[in-house]
Amino acid sequence: MGFAVEKTMRYRLGLGIDSHRIGPGGPMRLGGDDIPGEYHLIGHSDADVLLHAITDALLGAAGLEDIGQLFPDTAAENRGRDSAELLRLAWAEVARSGFQIVNFDCVVRMEQPKLAPHKTAIRRRIAAILELDVDQISIKGKTGEATGDIGQSRLVEAHCIALLVRKSESA
Ligand SMILES: [Zn+2]
Repeated sequence: MGFAVEKTMRYRLGLGIDSHRIGPGGPMRLGGDDIPGEYHLIGHSDADVLLHAITDALLGAAGLEDIGQLFPDTAAENRGRDSAELLRLAWAEVARSGFQIVNFDCVVRMEQPKLAPHKTAIRRRIAAILELDVDQISIKGKTGEATGDIGQSRLVEAHCIALLVRKSESA
């Protein structure tokens, strides 16, 4: 019965969480945009923590393998790789599985730089990558209240939930 329910369920929810350490020197690649400032994120790819969380939310909602399995950080081809390209590839897989995106809701936890001045540009960039309307993407910034790894500007964390809907209800 579980299988039958899964096959006919119209909506699917997915959660993606990612974090990257902060290093000195900007700009910071975030949500496919370059944010000027004193810091960048450290990682095997371009370390775009927000796009990684979005990618995992999409893949999770579709029940596919996660970003680390699809694009392993041990592979030389993924070194310094543009995360927008990874997101596009993951979205193509999800779309092939028969889904459309309803919306995303994302939280970026980071002490600085402040996210607010860049939110609109990031939402537009993500909308362009996924061919969505800007109002399908919500991004909120939260600080670490000056405590812990986030508050001490050692870490940036992104959380994202994605809602997908099957393109056709009956099969
Ligand atoms: Zn990542």
